[in-house]
Amino acid sequence: MTTFLDIPALDFPAAPPVNALATLDAQSISAWFGTHKVLDRVSLTMEAGQVTALIGPSGCGKSTFLRILNRMHELVPSASLAGEVHLDGHDIYDASRRLTDARKEIGMVFQKPNPFPAMSIYDNVVAGLKLTGTRISRSDKDELVEVSLTKAGLWKEVRDRLRAPGGGLSGGQQQRLCIARSLSVRPRVLLMDEPCSALDPTSTRVIEETMTDLAHEVTIVIVTHNMQQAQRVSQNCAFFLAAQGTPGGIVEHGPTELMFGDPIDSRTADYVNGRF
Ligand code: ADP
Ligand code: MG
Repeated sequence: MTTFLDIPALDFPAAPPVNALATLDAQSISAWFGTHKVLDRVSLTMEAGQVTALIGPSGCGKSTFLRILNRMHELVPSASLAGEVHLDGHDIYDASRRLTDARKEIGMVFQKPNPFPAMSIYDNVVAGLKLTGTRISRSDKDELVEVSLTKAGLWKEVRDRLRAPGGGLSGGQQQRLCIARSLSVRPRVLLMDEPCSALDPTSTRVIEETMTDLAHEVTIVIVTHNMQQAQRVSQNCAFFLAAQGTPGGIVEHGPTELMFGDPIDSRTADYVNGRF
């Protein structure tokens, strides 16, 4: 399994992009583990400044799809893929683009909160910077920590104990710390793989509110099994399905309201109404 430390060092951007909002466009993505094909020609546009929810039963390739969106899939030795992913028109797999560029622009938050437990809250937030070897002044660092924690909805709770270990926080706070850590390298897209599955309802609600606020400046893609959550946080939704023995694909995608209120495909209707 890949950990945060396995990810190559990132370069810290000198200044945030002028137009931070970015559209992520996946074109005809197929994916394999060895000879096992797990995704078949999946195309999806994830609009700038919106939250897109990926829903569907376990094993249909949602996490694989998400990991392809920031080039984590290629870290698995047996993995291969076909298709293209464009961030604002630039192919993130283009040979001239470095792997670290994609990672810098497209952050990821996982199901299980994974802060460095013994490291301070402050150092957890700037861990991404440390890996880059980039030196910024102490006051810039302080500001970055405050801004990142504020955006992650955690600043008020931890401002008085930034030197306390990250592992001492509650599960929900740890997840928000991980969100702050992702934000500290100023990504344009944030991918979230079941970010609330391990959390209680109160923490879940706080993270949902954080997501809604963040969507104004970061394009968000979230995998969730919680249908109420998909309806609360997303504007667009894609329903993934893998029929017995076949690779996963998108059955239907579109505005969340329509997917839940008036789905076209009967399998979508069955899934969103809990009949799967
Ligand atoms: P989901 O997130 O929708 O539950 P995944 O993307 O995790 O689905 O898995 C899709 C398929 O790919 C499953 O059949 C799963 O067993 C397989 N798979 C996922 N990761 C790996 C891996 N590292 N090696 C081999 N097969 C994998
Ligand atoms: Mg998954």
